[in-house]
Amino acid sequence: MIIIMKPSADPADLERVVARVRSMGLNVHLSEGEQRTVIGVVGLTAGIDRTSFEVMRGVESTVRITQPFKIASREFKPLPTVFEVGGVTIGGQGLVIMAGPCSVESRSQILESAHAVKEAGAHILRGGAYKPRSSPYSFQGLGEEGLELLAEAREATGLPIITEVMGAGEVDLVVKYADILQIGARNMQNYRLLEAVGRTQTPVFIKRGMSSTIEDLLMSAEYVLAQGNYNVILCERGIRSFERYTRNTFDVNAIPALKQLSHLPVIGDPSHGTGRSDLVAPIARAAIAAGADGLMIEVHPHPDQAWSDGAQSLRPEGFAALVTELRALAAVVGRTL
Ligand code: PEP
Ligand code: MN
Repeated sequence: MIIIMKPSADPADLERVVARVRSMGLNVHLSEGEQRTVIGVVGLTAGIDRTSFEVMRGVESTVRITQPFKIASREFKPLPTVFEVGGVTIGGQGLVIMAGPCSVESRSQILESAHAVKEAGAHILRGGAYKPRSSPYSFQGLGEEGLELLAEAREATGLPIITEVMGAGEVDLVVKYADILQIGARNMQNYRLLEAVGRTQTPVFIKRGMSSTIEDLLMSAEYVLAQGNYNVILCERGIRSFERYTRNTFDVNAIPALKQLSHLPVIGDPSHGTGRSDLVAPIARAAIAAGADGLMIEVHPHPDQAWSDGAQSLRPEGFAALVTELRALAAVVGRTL
């Protein structure tokens, strides 16, 4: 349920309503707009008599949120969520490009990648230090050394960094380095991990699980939001289908659907979405045309030597050419880049 306060409500009115909600054992999530404050009430609200709130001083109306995801829904917050990470605005009119290698491999590799993607126009550097690999015998990431190297690349370029955290027990360490915590597709429904990142105030980037529905993704976002971390980014990265020509099937539908259902920013990942470097640019364009707030793209200085995901990684020149194309496209869809 949401309780919409009148524009004329004063802080004492708000305080009384909040106190009453809390006294019923329910949780409060405030959304303060320019005109009015909306109180999101979550928990076991089924038996609540909404009219008992409607008669309180300063209350304009109450509305039941019909979606199973509450704080993530547009019903709770009609205006898009916009926030800043290290000077980069996410979710606004401007598109955000996150780029870099799949994995951090060495000091020279991540520094070279960071300078190249920055030069091409990326806003955020990506790179995995902890890698969720399908095989236990594949490269698992450099771990903390990788985090140190990412921090060095941030220092050298000024680009904020996004990196994956794989387990709840590693959040305390990764959060010391990351500007954005990435939750991988394989961990999208690791609820203890979602709660742990929700207890931080570092933005969280949630990749759609390969067999997860749009609603499943929004319910995962809800786990983070329910802990009080409101800076959540959703990512469409392709789902499993019967098709084997591509690594995954990029679900373009999910982009406008997520934007309709939720106020959270939505990013497209055409690298994992296709698994093929020759398909990354067209699917990047499709994602932006469909309304994505930005892209995550794998870029490697030498894709043929990459320790992971080389087949889907762009070379720096290819990435720079794509960003130039996207600038023109952004203008067509009323965005800036
Ligand atoms: C990645 O971003 O390199 C990654 C492992 O992605 P996903 O979780 O989408 O497979
Ligand atoms: Mn990858």
